Amino acid sequence: MRDDWQQKRQEWSAKSKYNSFNSYKGLTYLESHYNPIAKWWKKESDTIPAPIELSLDPGHLCNFKCQHCNAQRYLVHNPNEVPEDRKLMSEEHLRKIIDFCAEWGVRGVCIGGGGEPLMNKAVWNLPSYIKNKGMQSSFATNGSLINEKIAEEMMNCRWVGVSVDAGTKEVFNRVHGFADENLEKIENVKEIFEKMYGKTEENIKLFEKIQQSLNEKDENQNNNLFEKVIDGLKLLVKKKKETGSKIDIAYKFLIRPDNWQDIYNACKLAKEIGVRDFHARPADLQRKDFKNAMELNYNLDEIHRLFIRCHDLEDENFRVFTIMHKYDPEFKIMHTFCNCVSSPLMLQACSDGNVYVCADHRLEPRFKLCSHFPDPSEILKIWGTDQHRELLKLIKVDKECGRCTYGEYARQIEEMTMDSKEEDPMCIDFP
Ligand code: SF4
Repeated sequence: MRDDWQQKRQEWSAKSKYNSFNSYKGLTYLESHYNPIAKWWKKESDTIPAPIELSLDPGHLCNFKCQHCNAQRYLVHNPNEVPEDRKLMSEEHLRKIIDFCAEWGVRGVCIGGGGEPLMNKAVWNLPSYIKNKGMQSSFATNGSLINEKIAEEMMNCRWVGVSVDAGTKEVFNRVHGFADENLEKIENVKEIFEKMYGKTEENIKLFEKIQQSLNEKDENQNNNLFEKVIDGLKLLVKKKKETGSKIDIAYKFLIRPDNWQDIYNACKLAKEIGVRDFHARPADLQRKDFKNAMELNYNLDEIHRLFIRCHDLEDENFRVFTIMHKYDPEFKIMHTFCNCVSSPLMLQACSDGNVYVCADHRLEPRFKLCSHFPDPSEILKIWGTDQHRELLKLIKVDKECGRCTYGEYARQIEEMTMDSKEEDPMCIDFP
């Protein structure tokens, strides 16, 4: 982490330092993953352990059109990149991957990315299935489709993060693409759903609603969407109280040059509706495939003043995380490592039937590792092989990667197990 300036810029309060966003949690993977990966990287061994997490993309469709989204290339600009019959993963195949991963030793399943996961009905019952397999689950969602049934099922998750990215309707509409007249309409979603799930009366109504929300530019409809997302969060809070679930519910805010003024409003709203966590961090606007690039002209002093006001709202029921350590002080991408050594900590399985090196390079042919469809166990034929290692070694981090989700872990692996002149710099057998 950027210990020097991070100390001046508070990311979390002292009593919340053992939190999900603290990258030092990577040190708990030292024995199980860091050391074996380092040996494998140096060709001193020919195996690596199973990944810790499955990042599962159940579909490449979304009812929002957020300019900053890392999936906008294939969701909005080139929707034909993913064939229609691969835009949603079938329930049967989702369960096959989960069964395979449970047996392999994967610990957590994040249902999210590459689109809005709740647009695939097959995931609505997945958390309890994953729990029964002995793993933890989580959802990263835009929150607009959460209903009673889904909220109840989500109580089986370890965490749910809802990307609101705004504290007011006006900013919400701008950030999520509803105010952008230049974006293409998204066609045929209803037809894809119908083919996948059949034309029952209930399904037809649901698919029409989703198709409408994709293309609607009417102001009232958009206003309803913001309220719907907030209602979704309220529903999760209510279910948590009713069930006593230990789930962490986060109101998420990706900071862009055109929404940072809303950070404090969003944080206040998160507290008012009873969400436990508010999480803000810069959006990755420097992606190589990012078409609608924005000037990174943040008023950083003002943003940090807003962060402080947000932290002042914290109490025993409300935590604030303003995460900056993966960025430089100007909120620009920073690479504190040279090699793609941390990607084997997770498995990125996409709805197109392929496994990619990481969540930041979904659906990029250059980063395809293997297929998981129709038989997920085929992954074992590639995982940890010379072919896997060579693919990672060829990745030029500075040239090919924007923000790396696992960058801090790559830095820890390199600094602790590869660059260090000492074999055991922390004397780990002596607490
Ligand atoms: S962003 Fe680049 S360095 Fe990071 S895991 Fe992905 S490919 Fe590897």
